[in-house]
Amino acid sequence: MGFFSPSEGKKKTFMKIILEKSKCIGCGNCVALCEKFFELGGDGKCHLKGSELDPKTQRETLEVDNSECAKDAAETCPVQAISIE
Ligand code: SF4
Repeated sequence: MGFFSPSEGKKKTFMKIILEKSKCIGCGNCVALCEKFFELGGDGKCHLKGSELDPKTQRETLEVDNSECAKDAAETCPVQAISIE
């Protein structure tokens, strides 16, 4: 009857970066501001590095410890395609 909690004592805040691909117009702002998480893909839209596109929602989601520059990218995106949760 053990209760195992590997994350106990290690306080980590997970955040989610969400990219709505269908909104993206490929302006490149997010890539310029936050190369760590964003890159331009062959489809002319940006891509959230390390994530996969959910075909149902047309969203890419990435869990990170710290959203860092993604916050700036979200604020600068002209079509509000990026959000942080
Ligand atoms: S800033 Fe917004 S519109 Fe521009 S490439 Fe990034 S997600 Fe797409």
